[in-house]
Amino acid sequence: MKFSITKTASNKINLVDWKNLGFGKYLSDHVFIADYSNGSWQNARIEPYAPMPIEPAMVTLHYAQSIFEGLKAFRNSNGGINIFRPDKNAERMAKSGKLLCIPEIPKELFVEGCKELVKIDNAWIPKERGHSLYLRPLIYGSDNFLGVHASSTYRFIIMSSPVASYYSEGLNPVKIQVSKDKVRAVRGGLGSAKTGANYAASLYAGTKAKEDGYSQVLWLDGVTHEIVDEVGAMNIFFVINGKIITPTLDQETILAGVTRDSVIHLAKKMGWSLEERVIKMEEIVQAYKDGKLEEVFGTGTAAVISPVGQLDYGDLKMVINKNSIGKISQKLYDTITGIQYGAMEDSFGWNVKVNL
Ligand SMILES: *Cc1c(COP(=O)(O)O)cnc(C)c1O
Repeated sequence: MKFSITKTASNKINLVDWKNLGFGKYLSDHVFIADYSNGSWQNARIEPYAPMPIEPAMVTLHYAQSIFEGLKAFRNSNGGINIFRPDKNAERMAKSGKLLCIPEIPKELFVEGCKELVKIDNAWIPKERGHSLYLRPLIYGSDNFLGVHASSTYRFIIMSSPVASYYSEGLNPVKIQVSKDKVRAVRGGLGSAKTGANYAASLYAGTKAKEDGYSQVLWLDGVTHEIVDEVGAMNIFFVINGKIITPTLDQETILAGVTRDSVIHLAKKMGWSLEERVIKMEEIVQAYKDGKLEEVFGTGTAAVISPVGQLDYGDLKMVINKNSIGKISQKLYDTITGIQYGAMEDSFGWNVKVNL
């Protein structure tokens, strides 16, 4: 695949405070772009990261026809560079696109675009273990009109950002509030697509929860308000009496996380019992009351594994594993990050190498 490359005239890397990376605060010098028109993706290129002129009537500003992805590139212990499972993100972006009438992005264009961007901006991959270069692919409808219908043109952009770990607390357990009335996604809706629309739907409850001292919200299903969905930027896992359980994808209200999939593969390989099924909140409450709710953790690219130290459901405050990280959570975190940084054997072939 051939791309045209326009390099930046003024690189910004000297402005980075590597000790305070945060998450998504700094954006690397370049972006990968491809445009869709007349039925095909074309004009793939690398350009300097820069403001883009848009018209007030640009359809996505009004009707939210956009999808995105999130994945990471790592500098591993022997100096190599790899991207973690980009093929899975490419597949998921194609799936998200279907639900929003966005044309499929070819897997090769997605993966090669990521590799090419990482290559040109490789100096932006942090050296410190735990840090990485976060890649953010995005597709949006780019037509200008006010009528409600799918756009006929689209833009695909990959940008990248050097990041520290997602939670300022690091691997310390987070406090999460179960949302009893607001919902993120409904059956038959967009819950299984990675789209800004789901995030817009989650902002109100998320902001309120933050004001009340929680880091995130755990969403229940939109019909019965009894079934556990996910945490909005993370999938959720429970360890009850030695068994790992996580909500099934069958309801199509949650996002099929790549980290979720990695955890499932690893848990099975380690011989742990793992079930994907419908989980009701009352089962979690009962397990807690019986002293059998051993661990709760979220999974996502940004944080990898995020132990939940406290889960509040109405007046019930469930403190989990004495508000400290559990054995299974720790082992999964060590294994996934071990593979990502090339310190452990990549037996599933998840790392995709980037040759400079
Ligand atoms: C991105 C995301 C996740 C986590 O998926 P990963 O592929 O593991 O990063 C979970 N839920 C939602 C809603 C997401 O957008």
